[in-house]
Amino acid sequence: MVRPVAAGVGAKVNLFEHDRNGLRALFAQLGEKPYRADQVMKWIYHRHVTDFAQMTDIGKALRDKLDAAFEIVPPKALFEKQANDGTYKWLLGMDGGNAIESVFIPETSRGTLCVSSQVGCALACQFCSTGAQGFNRNLAAAEITGQVWVAARHLGNVPHHQRKLTNVVMMGMGEPLLNFDNVVTAMNVMRDDLGFGLANKRVTLSTAGLVPMIDKLAQASDVSLAVSLHAPNDELRSELMPINRKYPIKDLIDACVRYTQRKARTTITFEYTMLKGINDQPEHARQLIKLMRKVPSKVNLIPFNPFFGTRFERSEETVIRAFQKILLDADVLTMVRRTRGDDIDAACGQLKGQVVDRTRRQAEFRRKLEQGISHVA
Ligand code: SAH
Repeated sequence: MVRPVAAGVGAKVNLFEHDRNGLRALFAQLGEKPYRADQVMKWIYHRHVTDFAQMTDIGKALRDKLDAAFEIVPPKALFEKQANDGTYKWLLGMDGGNAIESVFIPETSRGTLCVSSQVGCALACQFCSTGAQGFNRNLAAAEITGQVWVAARHLGNVPHHQRKLTNVVMMGMGEPLLNFDNVVTAMNVMRDDLGFGLANKRVTLSTAGLVPMIDKLAQASDVSLAVSLHAPNDELRSELMPINRKYPIKDLIDACVRYTQRKARTTITFEYTMLKGINDQPEHARQLIKLMRKVPSKVNLIPFNPFFGTRFERSEETVIRAFQKILLDADVLTMVRRTRGDDIDAACGQLKGQVVDRTRRQAEFRRKLEQGISHVA
């Protein structure tokens, strides 16, 4: 939805808030042609310019008009940190004392940015440090797109040229499918040639498994889908991830099958955090194989990353390899994710930013979830 352009009063519209269609609609409200919006997009995303005065292929009169109605404001970096392995982490300041994190993971053939979608998270997965922080609010589209912009500018990205940021994963703080519209808008900018120009398969949304929202995503976008599974049976999964009580494994796998039914989306990645003595036994691997037979998939085993106060431990390396071998022997494509950036708390599940927990809201969410459970039961 496009907010009306403020006519001389009120706050300016932040252009990071909109995808190409949204920008064109905004420009139309000013009586400007769509190609003007496209020109501005290129300045923002290809040249990292945020000052209308520097947009030299646009006449002075129009630049002034744009400057009066719009602004281009990225999130503010509170601090940046580089790990020994080159992993880079930004802490970005939000309103009200909150902060979120995004992480860049450089590899030889690609560079992946891990982006947050919410301040905190309400899903309370037991093994996740963001979950332990509570929930504050959804990020605005500008705050999601802005994370990619801040990283791309830092890396000197030039789309279609030399590009250090090649992949985006919505695997930072928060549950992206609970902030659907803003996440979809931001992913549109990521995949747009006038934006960051990333192919569908290089933009991945990761979800804890909100079944109806997976179907909604299937209507809205062809991005890659990753699903946080972490347990191969309902009893264990419900213990680790409360959301499973509402959307059990069978329903989740069915939704995954529906998601892969379009040609552009061939495989689902299943994330499975290896928790010592909890979900890492051979019987779990065998149960997992049965599930993976139902849907075109690959499995990513993530060694658990500990955080302060957790009751879990990381599975032994030998146990992880044995688990992987059982899956591989059954022809289930399985990778072990290398732990990156853990010396600066930038590894999976370690992002906690700074969340001013709105406990009542979180309690309310939990209550609703419980109601959902009794309703389903
Ligand atoms: N809410 C979304 C996006 C978060 S993605 C989702 O659940 O998919 C972050 C990934 O890291 C998820 O697969 C999550 O389950 C996993 N993770 C969370 N805590 C972890 C930890 N302490 N160690 C390793 N992986 C963890």
